[in-house]
Amino acid sequence: MSNDDESWLRVKARLRAEVGDDVFSSWFARMDLEQLADGVVRLSVPTRFLKSWIQSHYAERVLACWQAEQEQVGRIELIVRSAVLKTTVQPKPKAELMAASDGARSFNNGAGTGRPMSAGDPGVHEALGGSPLDARLTFDSFVVGRSNTLAQAAARQVAAARRGDPVMFNPLYIHAGVGLGKTHLLQAITWAGNAANERKVLYLTAEKFMYGFVSALRTQTALAFKEALRGIGVLVIDDLQFLQGKSTQAEFCHTLNALIDAGRQVVIASDRPPSELESLDDRVRSRLAGGLVVEMGTLGEELRFEILKARVVSARSHHPSFDVPLPVLAYIAKTVTHNGRDLEGALNRLLAHNKLTGQSVTLEMAEREVRDLIRPQEPKRVKIEDIQRIVARQYNVSRSDLLSSRRTANVVRPRQVAMYLAKTLTLRSLPEIGRRFGGRDHTTVLHAVRKIEGLVGNDMALAEEIEILKRQLQE
Ligand code: ADP
Ligand code: MG
Repeated sequence: MSNDDESWLRVKARLRAEVGDDVFSSWFARMDLEQLADGVVRLSVPTRFLKSWIQSHYAERVLACWQAEQEQVGRIELIVRSAVLKTTVQPKPKAELMAASDGARSFNNGAGTGRPMSAGDPGVHEALGGSPLDARLTFDSFVVGRSNTLAQAAARQVAAARRGDPVMFNPLYIHAGVGLGKTHLLQAITWAGNAANERKVLYLTAEKFMYGFVSALRTQTALAFKEALRGIGVLVIDDLQFLQGKSTQAEFCHTLNALIDAGRQVVIASDRPPSELESLDDRVRSRLAGGLVVEMGTLGEELRFEILKARVVSARSHHPSFDVPLPVLAYIAKTVTHNGRDLEGALNRLLAHNKLTGQSVTLEMAEREVRDLIRPQEPKRVKIEDIQRIVARQYNVSRSDLLSSRRTANVVRPRQVAMYLAKTLTLRSLPEIGRRFGGRDHTTVLHAVRKIEGLVGNDMALAEEIEILKRQLQE
């Protein structure tokens, strides 16, 4: 180890002692020393957001820790390191791979079998050894609402990335309760990715991972394993909470590291955040938490209503006589609050009733049919004051700046973010939000919300920033 590396270890220890373990692991765990020359320390972090956060909150502290180690250090330079996909070479069909077990061959993604990979063909996915896909679970049928905007944007970004593009966040980790659309999003990524024919996307349930993938890996040598992974551009694993067993976890960890280090995208869904996957060991958990962790909240009433409308439209393509009046949909959206599966269940019952009895769907019928799907629930309420306070703190402006009529760039963006959060996290109307932001017009609020919605889809640093704000507010 060089002198500089040793200094870096001591600097990190110092930092950790000063800021505490939590802060350290949130912001500095993935910071690396790139270079120390002419009194300038160059440090790298994996995302732009980390860079700007550290720059604005900890730059002086980091410098001071360095100076305590090495007096000649005069300046810190932060850079974003990019994990660029290193693949342009397609895997060659290797004789020994072809001769190995079925599972092993499937890694070879059909190269050498003479079968072309055609767009949107489930065969492509199955040839890779993936779990079956449901043709209905695509981006087109995924309805976007306040609780899943970010997850959907991140998923689309992953699906649209091309071979050779830098990997923005790795892994992308989506967590949500049952029936809130995790599988839907993951399969949408798989369909879209394979249709674009850019990178091979492999969708696996944790179960399939355990019983298929891992056993296939075990028949391989380390070299063949690496070769096999080269065929996979994006690995998607659903329901990670079901991953069990020490050796499976070791294989998982191995796969995860190999893929991420090679610049391949990994996407994971689970019913809980990485920190709560108790059975996984710390290193895996921190690796999982090291990309973008996005939570999808419960489906809001508006979103439930939109999902129901979309469902009826698709049901009508098979059952043209099935007609559900909007008030019935509104009633279901209002009362069946639990999750997407119950919404589907409610409509299926109406459809069955309608088909079997020939009666048209009415509110009375709906009340009778869905009674047992109605469960009470207590949504977490976020207050506008809290949003203003937390946004102001993050952007280093005052709350009165947010409410003021100042239009300088450093307050306009935070104000828009705060309004956007007020619209997406509370049930307040646009006019009311306008009033709470220094008596602005509702069109100003709407403009802010649209503006941020538009930016979040393209600007992942902002998306990540907003996600962190949301998490702070929903804690
Ligand atoms: P999870 O994997 O999180 O348990 P699923 O993805 O299986 O949930 O979703 C349950 C049901 O709800 C599916 O039929 C799914 O299509 C539907 N659903 C959930 N969220 C949405 C959404 N945003 N748009 C459309 N359908 C949705
Ligand atoms: Mg699921």
